[in-house]
Amino acid sequence: MVLLDGREAKAKLVEELKNKISKLDRRLGLSVIQIGDDLASNVYVRSKERMAKELGLNFNHIKFDENVDENEVLSLVNDLNNNDLVDGIIIQKPLPSNLNYEKIINAISPYKDIDGLTDISIGKLAHGNDCLVSCTAIGILDLLNFYNIDISLKNVVIVGRSDLVGRPLFLLLTNKDATVTLCHSKTSNLKEITRKADILIISAGVPKFINKDLVKDGAIVIDVGINRGIDGLVGDVDFDSVKDKVSYITPVPGGVGPMTVYEVVNNVYKAYTLKKEKFNDR
Ligand code: NAP
Repeated sequence: MVLLDGREAKAKLVEELKNKISKLDRRLGLSVIQIGDDLASNVYVRSKERMAKELGLNFNHIKFDENVDENEVLSLVNDLNNNDLVDGIIIQKPLPSNLNYEKIINAISPYKDIDGLTDISIGKLAHGNDCLVSCTAIGILDLLNFYNIDISLKNVVIVGRSDLVGRPLFLLLTNKDATVTLCHSKTSNLKEITRKADILIISAGVPKFINKDLVKDGAIVIDVGINRGIDGLVGDVDFDSVKDKVSYITPVPGGVGPMTVYEVVNNVYKAYTLKKEKFNDR
């Protein structure tokens, strides 16, 4: 069994990205809007900030009270869209339920949509056009590439259909010629499906959900889950149960998580290049 080491892949990829960013004519800019004080969000925003600053980006964290007026948020997003020094915008999830999630996310320019969540970004991805794609989805693809794992012609099974992971991953991997099955909590014969997977990707948020009975011999297992328990961070895969059955597996922590963080800045760089191609002079 080989560990798919996200920290090692990230370290190498960050050096390459640093080199590309150092050749730009100005600093890249990333703005993160956080609404409320969700503890996990605080941790995620800090890791984005560390990564952005390590790569010399201007990082702007705007934190609103959970009772903020929706128009105030929309107005800020509009300002950031029109600011040529801001290349990427992230609205940190989750949003308080009193706000219109669809409206706020879709206010982001698709050229600055670092999480690839707008209807336009998802539509472009569905059509196989170049666009910004969810950092976790593209991070999984880059991790597989780093280990020279070819996904074309493989049977890939994804468990979890979230808009940040499962859905964009389904489209991304389909575009790369994998045959992809997307499962969720209403899937009735899950075990039968997961046991056929050459590559099994789990993003369900259920600690140690996948054990050896759900995994094919020699499968590649990607564990996206990050569950905080009394024993620290635990994935969606029961690592000890499956480790002797699989060919490759991501650890938790240290697998998909570091790749997601790297892809945030990689996506800001991509946003800069997409915008430049589109508008030529900015
Ligand atoms: P999510 O929004 O939490 O939704 C969970 C998904 O899993 C849903 O589609 C749900 O199905 C499905 N699911 C839940 N229980 C299931 C079951 N027993 N059988 C089959 N499907 C089941 O998903 P998410 O945002 O992708 O987060 C999932 C996990 O990944 C969390 O632990 C999160 O912290 C972690 N995560 C990690 C990273 C990273 O960088 N490593 C990034 C994002 C998320 P329904 O749609 O039917 O409800």
